[in-house]
Amino acid sequence: MEISMSFKAINLNDELQAGLKAANYTEMTSTQAACLPDVLSGKDVAVQAKTGSGKTLAFALGLLSKIDVLAKSPQALIMCPTRELAEQVAEQIRLVGKRMSNLKVVSLVGGMPMGPQIVSLRYGASVVVGTPGRIMDHIGKRTVSLKKVNTLVLDEADRMLDMGFEDEMRVVMHHLSQTAQAATRQTLLFSATYPEQIQKITNQYQRDAKIIKVESAEKVANIEQQAYRILNEHRTQAVAALLTHHQIESTIVFCRTRRETRELCEELYQMGFAAAGLHGDLEQSERSQVLARFTNKTVSVLVATDVAARGLDIERVDLVINHRVSEDIDTHTHRIGRTGRAEEKGLAITLIDEAEEAKLDEIAAKTDATIKKLSIQSVRFHANRIREPEFVCIAVDGGKRDKLRPGDILGALTKEAEIPGTDIGKISISARHAYIAIKARSVKRALGQFRERKIKGKRFKARKLS
Ligand code: ADP
Ligand code: MG
Repeated sequence: MEISMSFKAINLNDELQAGLKAANYTEMTSTQAACLPDVLSGKDVAVQAKTGSGKTLAFALGLLSKIDVLAKSPQALIMCPTRELAEQVAEQIRLVGKRMSNLKVVSLVGGMPMGPQIVSLRYGASVVVGTPGRIMDHIGKRTVSLKKVNTLVLDEADRMLDMGFEDEMRVVMHHLSQTAQAATRQTLLFSATYPEQIQKITNQYQRDAKIIKVESAEKVANIEQQAYRILNEHRTQAVAALLTHHQIESTIVFCRTRRETRELCEELYQMGFAAAGLHGDLEQSERSQVLARFTNKTVSVLVATDVAARGLDIERVDLVINHRVSEDIDTHTHRIGRTGRAEEKGLAITLIDEAEEAKLDEIAAKTDATIKKLSIQSVRFHANRIREPEFVCIAVDGGKRDKLRPGDILGALTKEAEIPGTDIGKISISARHAYIAIKARSVKRALGQFRERKIKGKRFKARKLS
């Protein structure tokens, strides 16, 4: 991430400055530096910047600086394409808004029952984050009032269109245009790409918008690209061979369809790789589990569809493999942008059969990239060279709702169960679950701890994930 100047240079209230400090955000990313002055001035802004450039924090600061927590009615509405993104956005807003007392952020996402969402809304939300369809449903049922919304954010706007949410978005935006706030509302749009359709949304729903495009050429230069010519029927074998050839701790393999994702993941798993799939067929809780495991490094190969991975805040990895060439340039750029961490050079490999070669050449030409073509003959699969994760994962049926914090778990495992701290890796906590990365030799002891003792006065079920 390119870093520019300090947040202190911009005009933010004390609570937000304190929130930034508590969250350890000191310098703005170049995207934040480019758009925050306009965002904070109340202007309508459309920002095009690549994934991972810190767009969420940019609009979070903008909308929070206008919130009156005593108003008890939503003043900011954010639309996101997927449930995970909505949750990530809600988390980011809570994090930086930590020093605003009584700030309530409610997420309204599909695939979850409406009842609890309605209850949360009744308690008085200041910020609503959700997916277009579910927000529309709440509007239809009159369970949410958007009369006081003075900031509307369309996050990952390109992806919302790609996923077919245009109609739902328009219904919500039309509803907002009928409210008294309409004339003074600020509309912010964020997108990784800026195709014509987005331009149309800007023209129609934003007022005199300033369009800010943040260039990202230098980032791509930090990625080495290779292509391997293969026969179509050898794709899985080629992925396996490349994985044992490079032996990298975390790799993302991109597939085009859910079915390919499922199949490839299953095959890699059978071969002995710690692989997990991320695609649209999974339940919300399964998706969170996969992401938690990839992040805590108990899964080393993430097989994902573009749709499922788009926009997600996954740490960059050292290797990205494209199981097939992307359909379009943006998708390719996005995929390879998942590699190249900090100052390290990333590697992005694309598998191509004869029919795909022209497509890859076109992508290389249009993105001004050099893609070295290699022969897969030189790369062999070796079962004994599969890189095993250092840790395994324990899932606990208890999370933030049970007031469980990483420190509570770490304390119980190191002090009570006397597991050496070096045997415990990352502990992450979602609403209902906790995931613990732990060395295999300490699993039994850890499970015993959960079976026999309470944490914070409660007994939690725990199991090892395989
Ligand atoms: P985008 O929406 O542009 O894809 P995100 O908003 O998801 O990117 O941010 C990517 C990551 O960068 C997040 O983990 C976020 O916490 C982190 N981040 C954002 N702004 C900063 C900053 N100013 N300094 C350090 N990290 C930041
Ligand atoms: Mg984003």
